[in-house]
Formats: sequence, structure tokens, C-alpha cells
Amino acid sequence: MEKLTPMMQQYLDIKKNHNDAILFFRLGDFYEMFFDDAIEASQILDITLTGKSCGLKERAPMCGVPFHSAENYINKLIASGKKVAICEQVEDPSTAKGIVKREVVKILTPGTVMDERLVDKEKNNYIFGVLASKRVDELLTFHVAYVDISTGEINENSIDIDNFADFFLKIRPSELVLDSHTKYILTNDIYKNNILILNYIKENNIILNIREFDENLYMNKDISKNISSSNPSTLIVLDYILDTQKTLSHFMEKSDKEEFMFLDNFTSKNLELSEANRTSQKKGSLLWILDKTKTPMGGRLLKKWVDNPLVNKNSIEARLHKVNSFYEEVDILNSLTESFKNIYDLERISNKLSYNNIKHMDIIKLKKSLKTLPEIKEILLGSSKEAIKNIGKKLSTLDDIFDLLDNSLEEGDEFSKNKYLVKSTFNENLMELRKLINHTSDILKNIEIKERENTGIKNLKIGYNKVFGYFIEITRGNLKNFQLPEGYIRKQTLTTSERYINEELKSIEEKIITAKDKEEKLEKEIYQSILSQLNLKTKEILFSASILGEIDCYCSLAKVAHDNNYTRPKLNESGKIEIINGRHPIVEKMIPQEHFIPNNTIIEKSDIQIITGPNMAGKSTYMRQVALIVLMAHIGSFVPAEKSDICVVDRIFTRVGASDDLSQGQSTFMVEMTEVSHILKYATSNSLLILDEIGRGTSTYDGMSIAWSIIEYISKELSPKTLFSTHYHELTVLEEDHKNITNYSMAVDDTGSEIRFLRKIIKGKADKSYGIHVAELADLPKDVISNANILLSKLENKYSINSIDSKSTPAPSPIKEQISFADIYNIDIIENLKKVDLNNTTPMEALVILNDLKKKL
Ligand code: ADP
Repeated sequence: MEKLTPMMQQYLDIKKNHNDAILFFRLGDFYEMFFDDAIEASQILDITLTGKSCGLKERAPMCGVPFHSAENYINKLIASGKKVAICEQVEDPSTAKGIVKREVVKILTPGTVMDERLVDKEKNNYIFGVLASKRVDELLTFHVAYVDISTGEINENSIDIDNFADFFLKIRPSELVLDSHTKYILTNDIYKNNILILNYIKENNIILNIREFDENLYMNKDISKNISSSNPSTLIVLDYILDTQKTLSHFMEKSDKEEFMFLDNFTSKNLELSEANRTSQKKGSLLWILDKTKTPMGGRLLKKWVDNPLVNKNSIEARLHKVNSFYEEVDILNSLTESFKNIYDLERISNKLSYNNIKHMDIIKLKKSLKTLPEIKEILLGSSKEAIKNIGKKLSTLDDIFDLLDNSLEEGDEFSKNKYLVKSTFNENLMELRKLINHTSDILKNIEIKERENTGIKNLKIGYNKVFGYFIEITRGNLKNFQLPEGYIRKQTLTTSERYINEELKSIEEKIITAKDKEEKLEKEIYQSILSQLNLKTKEILFSASILGEIDCYCSLAKVAHDNNYTRPKLNESGKIEIINGRHPIVEKMIPQEHFIPNNTIIEKSDIQIITGPNMAGKSTYMRQVALIVLMAHIGSFVPAEKSDICVVDRIFTRVGASDDLSQGQSTFMVEMTEVSHILKYATSNSLLILDEIGRGTSTYDGMSIAWSIIEYISKELSPKTLFSTHYHELTVLEEDHKNITNYSMAVDDTGSEIRFLRKIIKGKADKSYGIHVAELADLPKDVISNANILLSKLENKYSINSIDSKSTPAPSPIKEQISFADIYNIDIIENLKKVDLNNTTPMEALVILNDLKKKL
């Protein structure tokens, strides 16, 4: 260390506290990186790696980026999952004694960035704090908190270990903050594969000066009161933010007192709530259908509504009532949609203010948004609906903030040169300085006129030269004839004239020369003071922003209801679901208009409906349609149906049986079974279960037995509303012995020569699977199809399907009647054997036949 240059010693001193970040070390107009940081960053940023003598034999690897264009480089590092610590010179180099003092002023990380280029405007960017409860005698739970500093949102919760992975995947945080005890418990691959950055808190270091912070930091004062006792994970996240950002903004608790339906990850994926499965994109998802929001706040909130359906009937009714009010006021809906176009991301702008990341463009966007608020309020207050008027009353138009910005700031942006940021009219001194700068010649002209009058000399001139500055020039001829006024001081003598200065000209000269510097400095000061005043108002801005987001969501749901012909669902608590002419909201958009065939659904409390029918008949679509309609009602949305009466459910579970994927068959089946076990543990009589081909991922006998016992268990022990599709027709006999089990199937029009899938759900079981028909539709070679038909008829003659005795739970004997691939081979062998005429076969021929048959095995 002693051999190192003093600057390098300072560098290493700072670096040792920021080992997990790339240190941007400010040296004049550059940020420099050294040693391993330089090697890594030069590769990611594709910049030249050089070296710097550092006192040691070998030069220190070094790379650097110009201070002025650092932002793009920093963004690139963060996008690749790095942390960047910004180390600035914190004293004026011209007055510093010895080496300039430097400090890390901010740490930028994937979870704390605010740049629009790095954060998705439609999604929150969360830092997730998690601490496992340390008691061994209770069910392991995690205290969790997830905070988005770009929107000022804070949420707390407690999650048990079984639901933790699902919860984690729903939040999809950018960063995790945890302690080593929790890390030890969280061995699941999810965290390793899905997280950019893990932060470990230093043990015993939850000092949390936060407790002493102004309770104003939290919009909801209750949080600050309960914060130390209720949820330690909130504290570790806030501590982390304070550590990296050196300040904390206002926070607003979003997970309000509402109760939400917990949707596991599989259900969200299976119903394609916010992403389509095939593309992992929003397009093709339920959110894509429902999201017609115009503001970023609305977009993010609607995603939350879709991810967190409500479970309290009154809350759902309240939301539906508001959506309905906007639905019935089409003019208001249209005017608001227009006005929302001028509303920018107020949440993120306000938090950029708090964390000192604001750009002038953001302020202009803030001003434009605020300008629109009175218009929005007026539209709301003009409504004939109480619900809309009430929202209007709640919306504060923030006139004082708008007036401040309107009086003080010019339009225009940071790129347009020669434009001022602050209006001249806002500050008298600024106005004077600018007058001076812009009207120098007029001012001098006026002095010239005045001095001509004073002296009576008509050709008296005011001039300027670099050495002597401004002067009053009088010709020798005039000097003889006129008396000069007092205060004229000679400055320069020329052959034909004398040049003078007086007090007034001297002071103007002084002002003109320093005006530009002063103007820039003063403008900066005023601008900063405007930002400080705005900073005091972020809480109010956030309140209005959240109301705007809400209105935007109601409008979006109302608009979607109009555009797609949805109706308001009726809600009940009697446990019955009744849907008349229901449609699948996504599939109906994917196929040509009017081609979607609606279906009716009636599910009584604790009904289990076993749905059979050929592949491609529409079973999955129908079952998901029911789940989606029920879920949409819980979001507070209108639904794609002619009429509906939907009971409030506590949870919706959907599972799709694992496919017979040989490459991962075993593990997929294991996953399927784990998920089913999860359902059997958590489903109640108030849940809705959608089970699609469960048991498919293993051998026929196994699969059917498992499906059979799952249905029986559900029927006897849990009795939730269940739709269970299966291609095991044998399961339809369960209907006979269980009052709450009913068979349904997808109707098929089979004329003998032609088969048409009618996509209609009907009571009763399917009698055929039409698998070969589907194979034909898929254009398999004709030979394959005709051979399959021959084999099928042989098998059907030999075995009678549906011969299971329903009284015995899957017993080995009846299940043996099920057809398997082995049977197909055996039939072939048997048929060949039958053809052999033993009386006319030589021993040699018999051996050849035997050999051929063996080959078929
Ligand atoms: P299954 O689960 O019985 O194999 P799917 O539900 O996957 O069948 O449906 C197969 C295809 O049939 C879907 O991709 C969809 O295009 C079409 N389909 C399903 N239900 C309907 C319907 N009600 N109206 C029109 N087309 C439908």
C-alpha cells in the first residue's frame, strides 16, 4: 500500500467498501475504472483497456468514460446486471490541499435505476426484502417487503414457505435483500435464475436509523408507527435504499387493506394473465385485452389489478360500480381518454425529484400534466354519476405547483440552445441581467443620447475597444468649443480625439462584462430553488398520480367492455356460477370475428364436472373461459358473456396435465403431481379448480388410477367447484356413485362420413375420442390413417371400453381392459398366428414364422 501513489491509495480505500460494484472514480472530466473493474467494464462497454502507473512495477489496468456521456455507459453496465458506484470529487480541486477529497455519492443498481431507458413503464421495478422467521416450532414464514423507488410504492406481507416461490415469481424483483439465515433456507433455483442482484445485509447491522426518520417519509403514517415491529424486511429494504441512494423519498403503501386472491404462478401462466405462453409477451394475454389505459400509472395499476383479483364481495361491487358508471357515461369516457394523452409518468417524475435525478424534460412533462388536471377534474365533476363526481372531488389539481412552474419556467427542452430555463419575469435581477446582455447596444445608445444632451456635442460617440473597454469619444474640435461636464475622466488620447469614461459608463461596463456569468449562476440558483420547492410537494403529486391511475383503469375497463361487448357480472355468495353465452376473451380475438361459439355454464356449489370429448373439441378453451370469466369478475371487470351470476371464490387453481414428453417425462410428471398436491392442500369448498388432463404424464394405468382417486378425494374431502377434463372415458362412471359429479362433453356432429366439432358443451359423456380424425386433420399420410382405423376397429371388437365397475375405486381388474400399445402389437401377432395352417407347415417353415413373430415383439 505504501508504494502506491496517494491517488491510488485513495482509490483502494474507497473501493474496499464497494467490492460488489464497479467504481466510477472521478478524475477531472473522466470517470476512471481500475484493476478488475476496468477489465470487466472494458469488455461490457467495448472500450479500450489501458494502464496507469500506480507506484507498483506493473501499471494498473485502467479504462475510462467521459463525464459528459457517462450516463449511457452506466446504463449499459446496469442493464447487464452490475452495480455502479459513482465516486465524485467533493471539494473544489483549485482550493484543495493535497489530494482532492472524493466520496461515493450514489450507487446505481438494477433495482434503483430511474432512467426511462432502463425501466419498463408498464411494470414496477421492485427491490424485494425477505427475512425468514427464525422460530423453529412454527410453520416457516417469510416477512417480505417489495419497494419500487421509481414510483414510491411500498408493500409488506408475510408468506409461508409453500407459497413463497409463487409470490416471488409474481413480484419478479430486480434485486433481493436478505440475511444469511434466509439465504440458507432459500435454496430454490428460482432465486438463482431470476434475480440480477442479491444483497446480503450485514449481520447485526439493521441499525435502521430509519426509525428515527421523519414519519413524513411514509405517506401512510401507520407504517412508520408499526414499521419496526410489524415487518423487519421493510427495514432492510429501506436501509439498502438509503445506503445506495443516500436519501429516501416519500413512500405510499399500495397493498392497502384489501384482501386479494392469491394466484399461484402456474395458474397465472396457464390462464395467460399478463403474458402469452408462447411468446412471453403481453400480446395475447388477458392484460393485453383489458389494458386500454393511457397513462403509465394506469398501466401499472391495471397489471396489479389483474395479478391481484379481489375476494371481498363489497370491494368487487364497489369497483364494478365505478367501472359501470364510466361505462354508462360514454362522453366522459371519451373526453377523459383524450385528456389522458397529456398526462405523463407523474409517479416516476416525482420520485426522480426526490432522488435528485430529475431532468428539465421531466419538469416540462410535469408542467404539461398539471396543466391538464383542472380539465380532468371538470370533466369528472360534470358527470351525472355520483361515483364519478366523488372521484372528481378527490382529485387535487395542484394549482400552486402548476402556477409555480408556469410563472417560473420557459417551455422548451434541454437540447434547444440559447433558450432560458427560467422565465425573465420570474426574478427582477434575472430580468435586469438579461436586458443588459440582450440590449447592450440600446443601453449604450441611450447613454450616448444622454451625454450628447449633457455636453451639447452632437457627434459625441460611445465606443469600445478590447484594451480600454467602453469610452466616450470627443473630437479635438469639439473639445475647444464645449465645456465637459463633471465626472469625465480621460482614458486615452488619440491624434484627432480624446476618450473618456464617467461613473455611469464605468458601472455599465462592469455589469455588461460580468452579466453572462451572473445570469447563468442566478438561473441555476433559481432553478434549484424551484426543484426544492417541488420536492416538498412530491407527496401531493403522488396522491393525484394515484387517483389518475385509478380513473385510467376504470376508463380502460369500461372502454374494453364497450368495444368487446362485455356485460356486468352479478355477484353472489351462494356458491353458484351461472354464465349464459360465455366466451373466451382471448381466443375470441384470435379467430375471425363471429366464429367463436359461446357456451353456457352452470356450476352449483361443490359441483365436479368431468368433461370428455375428442382432442381439439374445445375442452381446454371452455374450461379456461370459465376460469377467466370468474377471474375477470373478481378484478371488477365486465365479462365476455350475455349474462352471468358469479359466486365469490377464495382461489382459482388451474393445472394442465404433463404431456408425454419423453425427454423430460418423469420430471414433468413429478411437477404435475407436486402441483396437484399443492391444490389438494390449499383448495377449499369456495375455490374453483380447473384440472385439464391430469394424470396424462404417466402410463395409462397409473394415470387413470391417479386421476380417479384425485376426483374422488376432491368430491369427498374438499368439494370445490371443479372442471376436470380427461381422455380417460372410464372416469365417466364416477357420476353414478357421486352425487356431486356430473359428466359433460364437447358435442360432435358425426354423420358417419364426416365429423364436425361443434364446440358446444353438453351434458353426458363422450362416446368416442376421434383421435384418428384429428390425425387426419393434421394431414398424416393416408396409409397411417387407414391402418389406424383397421387397428381401432379390431381393438374395439376385442375389448369393451367403459366396462369398469364404478363401485370399486380403480381396481386392477377392470383397468386391465384398457387398451395399450402392447395390445396393438399382440393383436397383430395373434392375427398372424391364426392364419398359420399347422397341418401344412414344415418344421422349417414353422421356425421362420416363429422368427418373424418374435421380430414383431
Ligand atoms: P381440446 O382441449 O379439446 O383439445 P382446445 O380447447 O385446445 O381443444 O381447442 C382447440 C381449438 O378449437 C382452439 O385452438 C380454438 O381455435 C378452437 N376452439 C375452441 N373452442 C372454441 C369455440 N368455443 N369457438 C370457436 N373455436 C373454438
